[in-house]
Amino acid sequence: MLYGPIVSKQQESPDWTPAPADWGGTAPPGAPGDDASGDQTSHVQSPAVRLRRDDTDVDVVVIGGGVNGVGVARDASQRGLRVALFERNDLAFGASGNSSGMIHGGPRYLTHDPHVTETSCRDSGHIQAIAPHLLFRIPFLVPVERSAKARVMFTLMDAFFEAYDRYQPFKRGKPHARLSADELRQLEPGLAGDLLGGFSFDEWGIDGARLCVANAVDAMERGAKVFVGCTVEQIERREDTGAVQAVRYRDRRGGGVGRLRTSVVINATGAWSSLTAATSGLPPTASLVRPGKGIHIVYDRRLTSYAIMGRTIDGRQIFICPWENVSVIGTTDDDFYGDLDGVRATSEEVRYLVQGIARVFPEVRRARAIGTYAGVRPTIHAYGPSEDQLSREHEIIDHAVHGAPGLFSMIGGKLASYRLFAEEMTDILSKHFGLGAPCATHLTPLPGGDATVDPFKLAERLEIDAVAARRLVYRHGARALRIEERVKARPREAVSVCPCEPVTEAEVRYTVRHELARTVGDVSRRTRLGLGACGGMRCAARCGQIVASELGLSPREGLRQAVEFLERQALTRVVALGPEQARQEALTIASVRSELGLVRDEDLEAAPAWRSIARLAEQEPGAHAVNPGEILCPDP
Ligand SMILES: Cc1cc2nc3c(=O)[nH]c(=O)nc-3n(C[C@H](O)[C@H](O)[C@H](O)COP(=O)(O)OP(=O)(O)OC[C@H]3O[C@@H](n4cnc5c(N)ncnc54)[C@H](O)[C@@H]3O)c2cc1C
Repeated sequence: MLYGPIVSKQQESPDWTPAPADWGGTAPPGAPGDDASGDQTSHVQSPAVRLRRDDTDVDVVVIGGGVNGVGVARDASQRGLRVALFERNDLAFGASGNSSGMIHGGPRYLTHDPHVTETSCRDSGHIQAIAPHLLFRIPFLVPVERSAKARVMFTLMDAFFEAYDRYQPFKRGKPHARLSADELRQLEPGLAGDLLGGFSFDEWGIDGARLCVANAVDAMERGAKVFVGCTVEQIERREDTGAVQAVRYRDRRGGGVGRLRTSVVINATGAWSSLTAATSGLPPTASLVRPGKGIHIVYDRRLTSYAIMGRTIDGRQIFICPWENVSVIGTTDDDFYGDLDGVRATSEEVRYLVQGIARVFPEVRRARAIGTYAGVRPTIHAYGPSEDQLSREHEIIDHAVHGAPGLFSMIGGKLASYRLFAEEMTDILSKHFGLGAPCATHLTPLPGGDATVDPFKLAERLEIDAVAARRLVYRHGARALRIEERVKARPREAVSVCPCEPVTEAEVRYTVRHELARTVGDVSRRTRLGLGACGGMRCAARCGQIVASELGLSPREGLRQAVEFLERQALTRVVALGPEQARQEALTIASVRSELGLVRDEDLEAAPAWRSIARLAEQEPGAHAVNPGEILCPDP
């Protein structure tokens, strides 16, 4: 009865075998010799916590390594609770690593959800304060086309942005500006259409995956145990009271299973929430979300200097936005009931977005798409409204109302307000454990956010180019100095592994040693390795070798990881390419496989990525894919 939704008898003895492979390099909490399992000063100060140690291994189990899960793990461990976090894939694998990455209030929520705008803007200000290195400014342009109603619309929009300006001080944003058509074109010469004028307004962007990693690292440094690649298969409850008593988990990489005793479980599994709640024996309806898929298309360089708002054929707001080295178009919002572990963009979704952006910025059709990414929003459930109209509020469900005391689900929310959501959840825990400790996550810098590092001086010291140093400082803040230490000790680690992004060998090794990266894909999530124009062709194999050497795996395993990464990336790319380029893609993958000595016909046939790419390549070439934009979105 390990996998079913079980209400089991209370078990007194801990069952530690086998421990997950990723127990942060130490023994599981409570296991002999585990110095980090709670002997922190803050724990000693709390009698309530000490009392609970006798019958539990940890105070709180958090399920889900997205931004909400790691946010709670950080806050709870900072307030002195013993925390274990389980993530079935990798940190930021879900919505948090696949969002538009805007730490904003979302002007579009202002009309129907002003509370969301306010809380997001306030929390955005806090996130800027604790992780200043991770934030970057995104000035937006909103062009308004001439039409019969355009002047009225223009006045209304001006009033709307004036209302949004009131929230800007919370996030150090600049007020909006009215712009003439000439001014708009001076800023973005590629803008199309007969324009009446437009507006600028100010937002902030963030790397969602780095935000998750920073929170997880901080939680670990405060004693939390974080398991990646480890899925919670069952939330055990007592037969008599229904209260939570343990979780049972499976290490998906190492293959082992185990059990961890706890009286509190936080279900922070986003779009997976109802599935997770069901493992406790509750009906899936106890923790319902309305999963909304959103995709983005990535281009090989910065096509615009500003983010530009456009509209889709059905009137939805979308954008094209410069993002680090690349440009991104986003996003869709569609109900999704497919496999949450394998969410991918489709070519229809790509066409829909390209068509919308091409109306305001036609040059996009000539640009080279290098990939797509997709995630599923864990939106609060409502039956009836269209996806865009759903509230972006967040909600905590205390499953005591369903007869499961100790189980909580965190539903909905935004990246921009994750810290506040985590604070609200941890306030409940604090009360539950009688801690009385106030939240301090808005006052304490995230790892790397405590000091500024001059990237140009770093570039000189490391003898790397300035762009590489800027990227390093962007991703790691003051912790870039720790990577510098590695390079000082081993100068050859300054060598660039991924030239597109760029990423050095020292950084790859650092992410494996200190940030729980276990595969090429994990390194990519933390560094953007392989996400540039070459799609990993120039770096995945070397990265695989480094990961294998750091983890003591065979070199062949490193290569296998590299090919897995390349095929996964190719799959995200082919939907944004024409059929001819898909053929080319299939050939390139085959040649990389053969260069790595991993090619056998039956391997290729079996690989799902190969099959999909080959299917696309077999399609009628039609108008040849010299320009994929034109194929994907002909003029109406
Ligand atoms: C396309 C898109 C664009 C967005 N844009 C923005 C934006 O610009 N700004 C903004 O503020 N917000 C944005 N959001 C919303 C934001 O990304 C989400 O609200 C937020 O990331 C949700 O975080 P989460 O931790 O709840 O879920 P997730 O990040 O999805 O994390 C859930 C995790 O739980 C893990 N998990 C599931 N089951 C188990 C199990 N049994 N055991 C262990 N682990 C498990 C999963 O692997 C996953 O990693 C966007 C979302 C999407 C999809």
